[in-house]
Amino acid sequence: MGLTRREFIKLCMTTAAGASLFTVIGPELQESLALAAEGKPPVIWLQGASCTGCSISLLNSVDPAIEKVILDVISLRYHPNISAASGHFVAEIMDEMLLSHKDQFILVVEGAIPLKNDGKYCTIAEKNGREITMLKAVQVLGNAAKAVIAAGQCASYGGIPGGAPNPTGVVGVKKVVTKKPVINISLCPMHPDHFLGTVVYILKYGDIPPLDRYGRPAMFYPKPIHESCLRRPYFDSGRFASFIGDEGCLALLGCKGFVGYADCPVRGWNNNVNWCIKAGAPCMACSEPTFPDAASPIYGVYPLTNKTAPASAQFEPQKTEILEKKRAGRKL
Ligand code: SF4
Ligand code: SF4
Repeated sequence: MGLTRREFIKLCMTTAAGASLFTVIGPELQESLALAAEGKPPVIWLQGASCTGCSISLLNSVDPAIEKVILDVISLRYHPNISAASGHFVAEIMDEMLLSHKDQFILVVEGAIPLKNDGKYCTIAEKNGREITMLKAVQVLGNAAKAVIAAGQCASYGGIPGGAPNPTGVVGVKKVVTKKPVINISLCPMHPDHFLGTVVYILKYGDIPPLDRYGRPAMFYPKPIHESCLRRPYFDSGRFASFIGDEGCLALLGCKGFVGYADCPVRGWNNNVNWCIKAGAPCMACSEPTFPDAASPIYGVYPLTNKTAPASAQFEPQKTEILEKKRAGRKL
């Protein structure tokens, strides 16, 4: 008997510290996956305005190893970093998707999409000597796919390339693909578990997972970081770090965990070796549509509160005097 959707989602949400998503889901899922993978869905991966960090994040996946994903779970037809194809060969792969796999393939988009001047600031292939823009490719392929995964913050909401003044007018995938569901796997970079868990859900249930109000799989973005942060006892007792490396809550160093919705505190990164706040770096709320502008200045203090603020609230002018006083009084 397979996992019900509810059981699957519950297991994804309760991944315990030290255990990978796939360890927790267990052999039962492997069996279901093998059945689903008999008709492996073709996957095509496009890269727009980005740093390629989300691909690197996925390639760092430890469990399951990335080669298992590519060979056993999906049928990856094209990826700009690991495929040899370029130029007109890429256009041929795109045509094959449209002709032979319409409404069956999964389009993965990494990076934002420049709109300005008909998208000419990002070209990804060519056909008959003419360049194909990222904008055109995502419009055509996205609206012909079974589902579209926006992999990472840039593809989801514009990310760093979309920060003010956004000179090339980039947007996230949902502004370009209007006829098919778009799943936003935000975070900068995206977490490999979030991507793989989403792909497995689509394979197993033939449908997209329940999404939250910002189009993210709700199972991976359940509540603000602040609510389950390991430094929360420091916050509650008023003990704040004044310098990177100090013990204490990082609120006075610019932590935006009040408004960043993600499961980083329980899932961790790199097979749960560490994550931002555990490593001493304030959360930048890279999960939110308003990143990076609303998280700037990165080390600016978010209004201190013992209540969880609504996601993506605007940051007020910073109260850095508290931090300045603490710094001034610190003996180095
Ligand atoms: S402000 Fe940041 S470091 Fe402090 S408890 Fe909240 S999430 Fe953790
Ligand atoms: S802890 Fe915050 S900044 Fe770090 S990955 Fe999670 S949401 Fe992004």
